[in-house]
Amino acid sequence: MMKLQVVFNNEVDDSKFAVGWGLSCLVGEDFLFDTGESPDYLEHNMEILGIDPAQLKTVMISHDHWDHTGGLWYILEQNPNIELVICTGFSEEFKKQVKPYGIKIREVENFSQIGDNFWSTGPMVSNYSGDLLQEQSLVVKTDRGIALITGCSHPGIDNILEKVVEQFPSDPFYLAVGGFHLVNHQRSELLMICSKFKELKVQKVAPTHCTGQDAQNVFEEIYQENYLTAETGKIFEI
Ligand SMILES: [Zn+2]
Ligand SMILES: [Zn+2]
Repeated sequence: MMKLQVVFNNEVDDSKFAVGWGLSCLVGEDFLFDTGESPDYLEHNMEILGIDPAQLKTVMISHDHWDHTGGLWYILEQNPNIELVICTGFSEEFKKQVKPYGIKIREVENFSQIGDNFWSTGPMVSNYSGDLLQEQSLVVKTDRGIALITGCSHPGIDNILEKVVEQFPSDPFYLAVGGFHLVNHQRSELLMICSKFKELKVQKVAPTHCTGQDAQNVFEEIYQENYLTAETGKIFEI
């Protein structure tokens, strides 16, 4: 069993946490997935949750968007020993900003193992405001099965699920958590996406961040007690 904790999210139900736009989760004790929108917010929430930047070994950034990269500078200033896991296609500007910190940078090219029981889906591409955007999602394997953690799911949450199941066809799919990016979808489309989750036997879902309220409602309706919220501070046992 492993602990997955939401460190920053735009969904908050306790006013002691900083709230803004974005997502950040701690997986186990030393792996941070995304960093939210700002260094100050990340620092504030990590302090409250008792997470020391020095305990981190790896920071994975799903995609090069401000609401996922914004807190990174706090970690880089506090801990020059981390390995940063990004996609090959992140902007040159981002890579240039990171370089002076002298950290190890791993640029992921395909579906690949990035730690004990940790995998990256590798860059999946979507068209974002006329540009090609690369995004990777995190897959963690525990006794309970597979847990998928997504940033914004710009490549399509259904495509991401399929890629994960293709790689781990015989493992139970325990949990999918993160931004599913389903705003401006019709109810019929949302129901189709939900049935894809069911077809691929995803046991529990925690759609959050940029998923959209309508989509969250549909997931809750379909998944019932297996629909979980993911507000800041929330701990999932995976
Ligand atoms: Zn986002
Ligand atoms: Zn995004």
